[in-house]
Amino acid sequence: MAPFFGLEGWPLLAACFVFGALVGSFLNVVIFRLPVMMQRSWDDEVLLHQHADNPDYELPKRERFNLMVPRSRCGQCGHVITAVENIPILSWLVLRGKCSACGTRISARYPIVELATALLFAACAWQFGATWFAVFAMIFVAALVALTGIDLDTQLLPDQITLPLLWIGLLVNLSGAFARLPDAIIGAAAGYLILWSVYWLFKLLTGREGMGYGDFKLLAAIGAWFGWQALPIALLLSSVVGAVVGITLMIVQKKGRQTAIAFGPYLAIAGIALLFGGSVLRL
Ligand SMILES: [Zn+2]
Repeated sequence: MAPFFGLEGWPLLAACFVFGALVGSFLNVVIFRLPVMMQRSWDDEVLLHQHADNPDYELPKRERFNLMVPRSRCGQCGHVITAVENIPILSWLVLRGKCSACGTRISARYPIVELATALLFAACAWQFGATWFAVFAMIFVAALVALTGIDLDTQLLPDQITLPLLWIGLLVNLSGAFARLPDAIIGAAAGYLILWSVYWLFKLLTGREGMGYGDFKLLAAIGAWFGWQALPIALLLSSVVGAVVGITLMIVQKKGRQTAIAFGPYLAIAGIALLFGGSVLRL
């Protein structure tokens, strides 16, 4: 069964680029709304806990808010984004990065996420051809783009993305798509344990928390996709890139070393390098 309607060559790459831009547009919504949805459900839990002795207590009514509703609006003037204004990459360029109603600047992050996803999807088709490997690879990169955006904004890597990414990796490798299944299972467990150990060692030595549990789960997911053999290079790559970016930011922004730095984006870069670097990067 061919997943790409018989497309190949340049038409395949172009179609995957356009599809990736559309998915990137949806990832923008995920990046913006998922943390808000998580915050709301935490707030609800606190309220329910505070009213635990009152069986008749009902949560306050609020406007529905999920990945589908309400429609996207300008954060400044409330102008509802029309379909024409919502074309990935192009609309932002045509509108010159401004709301059509009030002229408020729209972050360049939106077209950047769309363009990055488009390029990554085209790269998946380039690397894996019109195969199911390419489809799996697109799922992998889409999750990493969303995680990167959310981690940069909130320093969180939501379970709603990391855990499915982990078990999808295991399922994909039932047929040994990217790693042998035993290697993938060991990779998932070892990926979690390695960062968990680093976390506790760091905490015992310094009393501070150097990273979050989301990072353990993301490395576990990378292990599930590419096997335990991929973990050393994933750690090395993410640490080196993280150190270079961190030191650069310290110099440019004159921030101290205490500034918390999100580790997720560097793990995501390592994951993408492993996807496209293939067996070259693994033990
Ligand atoms: Zn506006």
